[in-house]
Amino acid sequence: MFSLGGAPELYDQPVKRCKQCGEAKPLDEFYVNATCKDGRRPECKVCNLAGRARKYAANPQPYIDRVKRWQQENSERLNAYRREYRRRPERKTADREGYLMRKYGMTLADYERMFEAQLGDFREEYELFRKAADYLDRDDELAGLVRARVGALGS
Ligand SMILES: [Zn+2]
Repeated sequence: MFSLGGAPELYDQPVKRCKQCGEAKPLDEFYVNATCKDGRRPECKVCNLAGRARKYAANPQPYIDRVKRWQQENSERLNAYRREYRRRPERKTADREGYLMRKYGMTLADYERMFEAQLGDFREEYELFRKAADYLDRDDELAGLVRARVGALGS
């Protein structure tokens, strides 16, 4: 154990005093850094994060540039991630709600009421195609097989 002026009995593990806030904290409250003499940074994680937030606020451009560079160098990975993100059911609903509001100034509930009122004789056909579309949405492999078969039949 390190010697402390505070209350070491709070922790049953080695503690270290933060160079910035002066608080004694368990070692895992300090980031690892192999070049520091005890293998941990001199300031605690809370102070470290606060310092980095200040540095970013003072001059955000280098951080923004670094993210943009990464995005350009990893565009395929980023696109795959964004595709997956947009496929989440809650994203789809939110995107649709945003679109309806921007384009027509209506909510999804408004739209669905209008749509229901106009469906009439086509209800059965609509339900069938909607189920098929939902099913294909959930299964890329099946969608690929169906498209390949439709393509083969069409040629
Ligand atoms: Zn601190």
